[in-house]
Amino acid sequence: MTTEKAEKKPELIKVEIARPRVYKWSSGRYLGKLYKEALENKRLVTNRCPKCKELLWPPGAVCGRCNVEAGEDWVVMSDKGTVIQYTYLVFPLWDPHYGDRLANPYPTATIKLDDGVYMVHFLQEKDPEKLKNVKRVQAVWKEEGRGRGLGDILYFRTIDE
Ligand SMILES: [Zn+2]
Repeated sequence: MTTEKAEKKPELIKVEIARPRVYKWSSGRYLGKLYKEALENKRLVTNRCPKCKELLWPPGAVCGRCNVEAGEDWVVMSDKGTVIQYTYLVFPLWDPHYGDRLANPYPTATIKLDDGVYMVHFLQEKDPEKLKNVKRVQAVWKEEGRGRGLGDILYFRTIDE
């Protein structure tokens, strides 16, 4: 003897999602400048607080330390830096904005740029043994598929300094 509940199959619904989804939104005055400089000049820029003189990163309208308007004191930063730490993930992640595969094959690192700001990005070096010795790195800018701000940097390559 079977019950009515056991015989009942779940009702499934099908939802079709049109892809790709193209979004357009403004990156704003400050991030817009970062995106524009990366796209057009392969440069990293940020603005400086007029009160404490610290660099904001990413560039923004207000200094979080001083709570004052940051303004337009723009600084072109070096695209060289020092690796502080790295993570070598062996499983894939995807960029939620563009759908690109993020981790694997490239290790992710926290890099202190020579101007003092910290950035998380990829390292070119993939050999786990060589990674232990990576200290100084420099950005390698993409030639194609640009217009993604820091995503215009493919990865950071090891440099001898
Ligand atoms: Zn400040």
